[in-house]
Amino acid sequence: MTKYIKHNPIEQAESILNHQKNLVGNLMFVEKPEEKEIVKTETQIIEEWESTSTLQELNSQICECQKCRLGATRNKFVFGSGNPKAEVMFIGEAPGADEDEQGLPFIGRAGQLLTKIIESINFTREEVFICNILKCRPPKNRDPLPDEMQTCEPYLQKQIDIIKPKLIMCLGRISAQSLLRSNETLTTLREKTHIYNGINLMVTYHPAALLRNPHWKRPTWEDLKKFRALYDKMKSESR
Ligand code: SF4
Repeated sequence: MTKYIKHNPIEQAESILNHQKNLVGNLMFVEKPEEKEIVKTETQIIEEWESTSTLQELNSQICECQKCRLGATRNKFVFGSGNPKAEVMFIGEAPGADEDEQGLPFIGRAGQLLTKIIESINFTREEVFICNILKCRPPKNRDPLPDEMQTCEPYLQKQIDIIKPKLIMCLGRISAQSLLRSNETLTTLREKTHIYNGINLMVTYHPAALLRNPHWKRPTWEDLKKFRALYDKMKSESR
């Protein structure tokens, strides 16, 4: 062990530094201060996104969500897209393979059909908002499980709170049953206009179902005409 016998403190320090320099060159080793890990509780996280007032903020707060098993298997989180002040929202069930790959809702074949559906009643994709109950793809496109929908749905509710649409169209049985807390069949759910948190809500077939069964296009068209008529009526009444 090296002994330092100089009594002049400056010379002593110099000697120690020279000794270290001989050992390690010009590198100085500074002990890293201990970093305190900031761990947010689940309540804090929920409070944070519940108080959010823009879609952009909400997206950045929830896009890395791992609250259910689908967080581990998704490729991309699919928040939704469209006008943040949309008067009309279209809500499906969950992202599929194309959506999971690109992080955007309804962009595969069913998405192209949805675009045509939207345009057939004189809206554009850009002026409405499109999203799903689930933000992550269930493996092999299986149906969402009840606990997954229960866990994810508060995000959708927050999206609706921010956007404040006048009208919602549910695409398919699963999104309608989930939002309306109902076990009724799609046929029954399509028969009337529902109220969801004070917002008019109608139900029609999911575009993917129309691709599988084109016979449902006619009843879908009837649903869409009613949807557009209700929108026009609400607009004229609000003038
Ligand atoms: S599906 Fe919803 S709750 Fe589940 S991990 Fe994705 S964002 Fe989170």
